Amino acid sequence: MKSGALTLGFDADDTLWQNERFFRLTEARFAELLADFAEPDHLAERLLLLEKRNLDKYGFGIKGFTLSMVETAIEVTEGRVPARIIKEIVDAGRDMLTHPVETLPHAQDTLEQLAGRHRLVLITKGDLFDQERKLAASGLGDFFDAVEIVSDKSRATYERIFGQHGDGAEHAVMIGNSLKSDVIPAIEAGSWGVVVPHELTWAHEHAETPATAPRFRQIAHLGELEGLLEGIGRAFRR
Ligand SMILES: [Mg+2]
Repeated sequence: MKSGALTLGFDADDTLWQNERFFRLTEARFAELLADFAEPDHLAERLLLLEKRNLDKYGFGIKGFTLSMVETAIEVTEGRVPARIIKEIVDAGRDMLTHPVETLPHAQDTLEQLAGRHRLVLITKGDLFDQERKLAASGLGDFFDAVEIVSDKSRATYERIFGQHGDGAEHAVMIGNSLKSDVIPAIEAGSWGVVVPHELTWAHEHAETPATAPRFRQIAHLGELEGLLEGIGRAFRR
């Protein structure tokens, strides 16, 4: 690795490839299946509550989401949900685990440009098998020096990962669509935090923009990352 190299942490879902879109489609299907029992808004609210409540047991990802849909269906129907609907919910969850991987604009060429110049680490949470499947299908796996599939993204997560892969959090930049998971805890660890907003972001991931943090940056898409990194690199060389 050349001198001046940074460690670049990349989030995966909705940063490198589409993800939330598939959750929204499945939620719409879920609302259809339970249309006779609950209003869509009420259902979405109940589901989100249950997902949050189950996070510390199931972790992030499709399997936990599917179980939370089943649990919500049982709750909103007061136990009367027919088994055929439960089957449709489980099938919808299983379908998600085979959805095609669609990379986001500039993901491929940006990683290609940056690989070799910087140390690239994929940092993602979610189901282990599913994230491995998506990474393989994305064709982006070879650009990364390391892949970290973690149960959560906290300040300690970034301290550990950037300590292990590179010169510590201060010489690292975390890039992702979630302020709450990708940007804020990375800045707390001492890194730069770059948000690349995605039009769909899960309600649980919303957080206040850390507008006054000196190491906070926002870009419209990954095509703007290289230019931004040049500025950050200059700050280090000075
Ligand atoms: Mg994400």
